[in-house]
Amino acid sequence: MSDIKTTLQQDLPLLQLPLTEEAVEKLAAFGELVIEKNKVMNLTAITEPEAVAQLHLLDSLTLLKALPLKGKAVLDVGTGAGFPGVPLKIAEPDIRLTLLDSLQKRMNWLENEALPSLNVSARFLTGRAEDFAQTNRGLFDVVTSRAVARLNILCELCLPFVKKGGYFAAMKGEAAEEELLEARKAISILGGSFECIETYEIGGALHRIILIKKTDTTPPQYPRAYARIKQKPL
Ligand code: SAM
Repeated sequence: MSDIKTTLQQDLPLLQLPLTEEAVEKLAAFGELVIEKNKVMNLTAITEPEAVAQLHLLDSLTLLKALPLKGKAVLDVGTGAGFPGVPLKIAEPDIRLTLLDSLQKRMNWLENEALPSLNVSARFLTGRAEDFAQTNRGLFDVVTSRAVARLNILCELCLPFVKKGGYFAAMKGEAAEEELLEARKAISILGGSFECIETYEIGGALHRIILIKKTDTTPPQYPRAYARIKQKPL
């Protein structure tokens, strides 16, 4: 049995998620594909099997505890090597998953190698979030994002995609509260409303999810060009 699978089986009870044996196998296989590809393409700094299981796979799955995702249209902004989107789709195949990233190489690997080999389906948007946001406004029930930008910037990239009544789920670490304070104004301008922070402990580390509900439409002038967002965050 692979080290990734062993760690998944040991730590999954912490999350109390009823995963099938097939899902656990596929999660482990995805982790192994990431480790293998990382030898020739820069995908992640996390390469130890146990850490891949805890910090990539199980961390991604905490979203299933925070929000009901079955049957939902989910967009993962800045998915990189596929986190959190791909583990979510493996664990909950009824998700209608879209992956978005500006790095062509990573998206090509996901679209043409990794996901076909696991028989996992998704839609792929290769390019910048702020560009796709214009043509995909209000289309998603849930938008997720991990390790892409500070929350005040991330809200402008992600909230335009969320439909009214849906959620933006930002995966953060220890600094979640501090980032939330900094992003209060942005959340309100962009049509969001802070709901709660969920905290999960895996392997001794705290994983935080900031849940923001979309309560109003985002004004049409947002998102602005990235240089402007960075230079003058809301
Ligand atoms: N979410 C993954 C994870 O947690 O492992 C990847 C994180 S990686 C540090 C950040 C990713 O966000 C990169 O793949 C980068 O190309 C992407 N990214 C950053 N800004 C972006 C933007 N404005 N539009 C699309 N992708 C973006």
